[in-house]
Amino acid sequence: MSFASTHAPDSLARLLNIKQIYFEPEVLYFDRGRAILDQYPEADRIEVESHWKIPELHGDADNVSDWNRIKRTVLVLGVKKSIQARPNTRSSDFVAPSHANGCAMACSYCYAARRKGYANPITTFVNIDRITAYIKRHATKQGNKLEPNQVDPHDWVYDIGENSDCSVDAAICDNVKDLITLFRTLPNAKATFATKRVNRSLLDYDPQNKTRIRFSLMPEKTAQIVDIRTSPIGDRIAAINDFVEAGYEVHLNFSPVIYTETWHQDYEQLFEQIDDALSPQAKAQLACEVIFLTHNDELHEVNMGWHPKGEELLWRPDLQEAKRSQTGGENLRYRYGFKGKLVSEFTTLLRDRLPYCRIRYAF
Ligand code: SF4
Repeated sequence: MSFASTHAPDSLARLLNIKQIYFEPEVLYFDRGRAILDQYPEADRIEVESHWKIPELHGDADNVSDWNRIKRTVLVLGVKKSIQARPNTRSSDFVAPSHANGCAMACSYCYAARRKGYANPITTFVNIDRITAYIKRHATKQGNKLEPNQVDPHDWVYDIGENSDCSVDAAICDNVKDLITLFRTLPNAKATFATKRVNRSLLDYDPQNKTRIRFSLMPEKTAQIVDIRTSPIGDRIAAINDFVEAGYEVHLNFSPVIYTETWHQDYEQLFEQIDDALSPQAKAQLACEVIFLTHNDELHEVNMGWHPKGEELLWRPDLQEAKRSQTGGENLRYRYGFKGKLVSEFTTLLRDRLPYCRIRYAF
């Protein structure tokens, strides 16, 4: 089965139709800030003291029916104050200071929604020059990576998309382009981000193998229920060869893996789709990470207000156990023992069907 015919360009315009821009006053001192404002001359402009304190956007769980409208029509512009990288272990060596947070998509398992209130529209930071200058200094200080690890054998890897989806951020402004351009020049470092959206304008960024995109994949029928406002899985798979050809390293992010009664055959089918679609060049560089679902009782309550169908897949107290989270609520994950069995079955199937796809980690 080939997905080559399904890769009609995804309409980012449907995803984003900016009508209101909240902005901190200092934004006007930055070229990037002024350029973004000029790009949306028709949008209402609302000055705010801080991008963190916009109660009508962030604070209201009763706003649930309005979230997707807010995500589509609202943009927040701010100046990033605390610019720091922090160590990471799994998908990257470091998390880079964020150039944006929030997301125009609405996956029902998404934790980002709880960090900045519920609607959580995109906030773009306009002081990108300070952010890139910081990353350059930080990478220079690391020197060469002497010990290979599962993240990467040669480069220090920086996650540039921990709090947002870079493919959508790139539709707002050139922050992502500037970061990809920066990493091209850093001899010992590489950028990475996971994405659920195909934005083909990134194909022109000339990353020269110094940016690793991790396309998030799950069986299409599950994605149709929980991956709200994202690109269809077939489109993500169909994009992989083009991104490899354009000079990206492309890995797969199987996350979250959600147990259903048919999960085994659904993943078997997904692996077959991937195997059929990928070019030899894409297969030769492939690796993946596997992360089973973790859910949360507060998020469950919120989701019951707007998307109960998704909760039939995510909320499985019969199969999950609780662990108190740092924010007070209870996180749920598949029960010890049961989860180990799932991880083992998943990795066995993956090794059998995609033997060229190295598993960077699975848990
Ligand atoms: S794409 Fe990522 S950040 Fe956006 S809603 Fe989905 S999980 Fe959250």
